[in-house]
Amino acid sequence: MKMNFLKSTVLMLIFLFTLLLASVAQAAPKVTLNGNQLSFDVSPTIENGRTLVPLRTIFEALGANIDWDDATNTVTANKADINVRLQIGAQTAYKNGGPVNLDVPAKIISDRTMVPLRFVSEALGADVNWDANTQTIAIVSNGIVVSQKNDIVPIVQPTNKPSQLPVVQPVPLTTPQPQPTVVEPEVIPVTTGQYVGSTESNKYHYPSCRYAQKIKSENEIWFKNAADAQAHGYIPCGVCKP
Ligand SMILES: [Zn+2]
Repeated sequence: MKMNFLKSTVLMLIFLFTLLLASVAQAAPKVTLNGNQLSFDVSPTIENGRTLVPLRTIFEALGANIDWDDATNTVTANKADINVRLQIGAQTAYKNGGPVNLDVPAKIISDRTMVPLRFVSEALGADVNWDANTQTIAIVSNGIVVSQKNDIVPIVQPTNKPSQLPVVQPVPLTTPQPQPTVVEPEVIPVTTGQYVGSTESNKYHYPSCRYAQKIKSENEIWFKNAADAQAHGYIPCGVCKP
């Protein structure tokens, strides 16, 4: 008797837990496009593990133009060079004319044409991710510009103040090479030369010669070189031997 009570309690708990799981699984999933939640006039429906969403909302959110053919219950969607064709109740859809098998075909629910979200999104070049924790289907499409808070990139406002940062001059990694010493051309005054002589003598000397030191400045005669001196009739001093 006790055992039966325990068994039935456990079974009851399992039953309740299963109901809970089932209700979570059947809750209408959230659908986001590039992080922005899409709102549908008819809630998304899960059938055989596939999510169906209202046709117009999903196609227009993904930037596709749609044409509806009443005669054949067929929707044709165009986006750039992509063409998607879906017929209500048909197991085969077409992308750019190529057949694609659908697990769950498009169908009418509550007077709304519902189309398989993953097929439509992927056919139009978007990625579809399912987050079980938040029961969210996240569609990511590069070609869609969504204005929403998450998309606002903080813009760094330029300040009117001039930058207070000091300009750091780059330091050369190699030590600068010493500049070759520029030899200034020596300006030789007309009163100087390699040798000096006196107008009162016929000897020429090194300027350092003690006899050269004795020559009065007004009598100095300067020679560029020995040839110059000799050309003027001078002979080398016997002391300094120029
Ligand atoms: Zn001399």
